[in-house]
Amino acid sequence: MKNSPHNVRTIKNDNRALILNYIRRRPTSRADISKKSNMSKSAVTMITNDLIKEGQIIEVGATSSTRGRKQILLDIIPDHRVAAGIALHRKYIYICITDLKSNILAYSNHKISQWGNPYEALDFAYEEILRFLDQLKLPVEKCIGIGVSAPGPLDYVTGKILNPPDFEFFHHVTVGDYLRQRSGLPVTVDNNSVLLTMQQYMIDDSHNFKNYMFVVVSDGIGSAIMTNGNIYRGFGGFAGELGHTSVHANGIPCSCGNKGCLEKYINIKTLQEKFGFSSYEKLVDDAYMGDRESTQILEYVADEFSCAIANTINMFDLDGVIIHGQLSYRSDKLAQMLQERINQRSVITRTHEVCVYFSKMRPDEASSSVCAAIINRYFEQKL
Ligand SMILES: [Zn+2]
Repeated sequence: MKNSPHNVRTIKNDNRALILNYIRRRPTSRADISKKSNMSKSAVTMITNDLIKEGQIIEVGATSSTRGRKQILLDIIPDHRVAAGIALHRKYIYICITDLKSNILAYSNHKISQWGNPYEALDFAYEEILRFLDQLKLPVEKCIGIGVSAPGPLDYVTGKILNPPDFEFFHHVTVGDYLRQRSGLPVTVDNNSVLLTMQQYMIDDSHNFKNYMFVVVSDGIGSAIMTNGNIYRGFGGFAGELGHTSVHANGIPCSCGNKGCLEKYINIKTLQEKFGFSSYEKLVDDAYMGDRESTQILEYVADEFSCAIANTINMFDLDGVIIHGQLSYRSDKLAQMLQERINQRSVITRTHEVCVYFSKMRPDEASSSVCAAIINRYFEQKL
């Protein structure tokens, strides 16, 4: 390929993105970046010096290398820019400003029922963002863009909400285009599960999984597959409907058209209706105390859940599964039950380990995930 000015600029951007993405997951030395990226030490030094001059990264101290030589670590400067977020929930809208490390700087919640149409709600959300920036004494130019989250299905390319159940207020609204025109800022729109998966990847690099599924259990069940740091989108961007994979061929009919969908069996409300327990926390506490009936209910959850998880492991050769949301209370017992069943059910576990664990993401980290996609695009040098 000819080295045109355009290609040179693209390669430079790709290298900057690569370096920023190493540094933002954890403070990293120039030598480590060079080793991981196969970039020459001089190229890494040149780019990191530029990033320091621009105020994007900073030297944050030293660590000793394997040969005992001190190495300077580099970290991003979180308040170099900020991101805005609008989370569209079924009953309310959450609006926030975060720094580049997803720390929340300002936020508010508002009931959707106060607005007559979706555009009034979006106008309010944008004006609230401007009010927040004003309060924080930040010019609009400091904001990299607006991240929007919404229940799926949605078209993440155009930012159009399609037809999520119980979300008629925003049906068929192209939220992305509307906010882009209104604000002049870049806008990303993604579903909650995808954003939580991106957030989990950035804040917790302890597991070192390469090809894993992140599962969000709420009243429905969403999931996403992260493969080498990228979300697997599928043909239309709808990949990850674990909740609508069938665990019983002739099971309970689901509004999606399928029968026996996983989410018809294991969300807490359904379990309470089926087994009549008062709270999930009490059920788990009783199981830890050795109560037989409570343990059997958890085993039922593990049976149904592991069926769908094992199918996905077999399809995508996963090396890990991380679970978030409902069912996270004192999750060690359920995690162990799931692990045992997955080891029995999945043929892939005969060739390598597939670990299941529950996410430790805090509620504030989950809330700020609304900005995860716009921050990713910023660090990928795509804004
Ligand atoms: Zn279904």
